[in-house]
Amino acid sequence: MTARDPECIFCRIVAHEIPSTLVYEDGQVTGFRDLNPQAPVHVLLIPNQHIANTEALEPEHDAVVGAVMRAARTVARQEGVADSGYRLVVNTGRDANNTVAHVHVHLLGGRGLGWPPG
Ligand code: AMP
Ligand code: ZN
Repeated sequence: MTARDPECIFCRIVAHEIPSTLVYEDGQVTGFRDLNPQAPVHVLLIPNQHIANTEALEPEHDAVVGAVMRAARTVARQEGVADSGYRLVVNTGRDANNTVAHVHVHLLGGRGLGWPPG
């Protein structure tokens, strides 16, 4: 049984309790389109289990973190940006404007992405 927070919006997306546009699902990872897209391709990849942010990562999470990264690669191919390129972003804490406390990887692509980021 995976850990879940009943108050967490992303746990509720994993459980299909609130709607989202799912683009990827397996036993460990869920991918869905960001509600407020910042690029033509903007997908969030999350572990199905609740992990608040990268500060909460423990060695026992290593496998699921790897699975999230490989799912991002799969979705990049699915979305047609694997060749043109894409950016994976993980925000933690106030200075990064982290708003949802369930760790997630933003997959951004489909346009040139500026560097340094804002
Ligand atoms: P962060 O700033 O990294 O915490 O990003 C949270 C992201 O989640 C933002 O880009 C939001 O647009 C997105 N978001 C929040 N609620 C939802 C939702 N219900 N479905 C899809 N994306 C969401
Ligand atoms: Zn959660």
